[in-house]
Amino acid sequence: MSETASTFIIFLLLIFIAFLMVTIILKNLRVKKVEAAFSQMKKAFTRLDEQAKLIVKTDLELNKAQEESERRLHLLEALQKTSRLISTTLDENEIYNRIGSSLMNEFGFDKNLILGYKAETLTIQVSSGFTDDETAFIQANFLQDKELVAALNSGQNFSSVTAATQRHESIKRIFGLNHFVLAPVVTQNGILGYIFIGNTSNANPITEGDEELISIFSNQIGQSIENARLYEQVFRSQQDLETKIQDRTNQLEKALKDVQAINKAKSEFISAVSHELRTPLTSIKGYAGLLMQGKLGEIPQAVFERLEKINKHTDSLVQLINNLLDISRIESGRTTMNMSNCQLKDVVSNVHDLLTPQLRERQINWTENIPQKLPELMLDESQIERIFINLASNAIKFTPPDGTINVTMMLNEDHIKTEVSDTGIGINEDDLLKLFNEFYRVENEINMSVKGTGLGLPLAKKIVEAHGGKMWVTSKVNEGTTFHFTLPLKNNPPASETTV
Ligand code: ADP
Repeated sequence: MSETASTFIIFLLLIFIAFLMVTIILKNLRVKKVEAAFSQMKKAFTRLDEQAKLIVKTDLELNKAQEESERRLHLLEALQKTSRLISTTLDENEIYNRIGSSLMNEFGFDKNLILGYKAETLTIQVSSGFTDDETAFIQANFLQDKELVAALNSGQNFSSVTAATQRHESIKRIFGLNHFVLAPVVTQNGILGYIFIGNTSNANPITEGDEELISIFSNQIGQSIENARLYEQVFRSQQDLETKIQDRTNQLEKALKDVQAINKAKSEFISAVSHELRTPLTSIKGYAGLLMQGKLGEIPQAVFERLEKINKHTDSLVQLINNLLDISRIESGRTTMNMSNCQLKDVVSNVHDLLTPQLRERQINWTENIPQKLPELMLDESQIERIFINLASNAIKFTPPDGTINVTMMLNEDHIKTEVSDTGIGINEDDLLKLFNEFYRVENEINMSVKGTGLGLPLAKKIVEAHGGKMWVTSKVNEGTTFHFTLPLKNNPPASETTV
């Protein structure tokens, strides 16, 4: 082999080695890249795995949270329904009836109990999920734990959610459940009872939300029961009041009947006595008249004067008896009024004429304030005249010289109002109250010297009332007195039928 050929071969060999080396270097480089990529992929996988685990965890938690919210929502709905039902009744028993075990089951707890508390005794108001033995055990043991009861009565709730205490152990023992809420039904006026709800399974524990809602529910029951009790109280006192009013009304009705009976007896007695007295009085007056006329022979002057006195006193007695008879007749409805159309102004005018001599003698002025056009009224004119005569005579009697008597009339919607006033001695308040009582006379100097019966005013008032009007008096001592009375414009019954 020539040197050229061997150089060429060496050259080729070198090129081949160089190529081989380049190839190896390149391959190494690629392997490193792949390794780097692989390690990155591995990391990415690890991250993905972590994220997947997180997603699964989150999903589980979400599911749990959703379950919890659904449960709460369900409980809320059940509570809302219960609230609505119990807030529309004011009967305590009906409140418990409406809550009932089936409604409480809707709350979603395994066991429910509402205990009523009154006079240191527990009653089972609503129970579901508990056996009779269990409730009997609760009834027998619950109040024994005085500290637990005291804490509840002060408004404290207990639930298995909060940190365990000795009280919690006691509750578990009494109610036989590990998961529970125990809340008092307490109001401003004291403790009404207790609510207990609980779950048996550890997989179904109580949440803080449950505790909160049961506490709201217990407040709601407390409020409803308190309302019911208040209503009951109001209802009872109203009934008591009605019974009392009825009793009083019966008593008053009886008293009124008794008074009416006594009044009737009095009227009949007065009437009978008056009749009996009138006959002999008429004879006395007749004989006195005969003697005075000298028809039975001459009589000495002294006898004549005594006879005159007998005559005068007999007249007053007859007048008194007539007044008494009139009062009793009007009271018993035995007086027949002779009704006719008449003008009050004319009646006043007649009375003025009649009393003018006395007015002059006593130097008393007479004034009138009567509208020209007053409607005619249906009246018994002679009886109304009696009223004016009585009022005016009294006014003359009790008014000093230079005084004034005034008669005023006013036309009102359905009546005419009359006022007879004077500027006389007046009447004090105590006497005013008794003025219309029969035989009542004020104790004063004038009455001591002037005789009277105390029957004029009661009779006048009775006549006014028999005409459908009212009579009253106002007065001021040393200033004067005014008698007021009304007479209705209409509704006067026809003369022939009017008996009062
Ligand atoms: P009598 O005039 O017969 O006493 P009345 O029934 O007419 O009976 O009056 C009762 C009493 O009312 C009178 O005694 C008098 O004391 C009082 N009285 C009545 N009218 C007046 C008056 N205008 N002023 C003061 N007192 C009066």
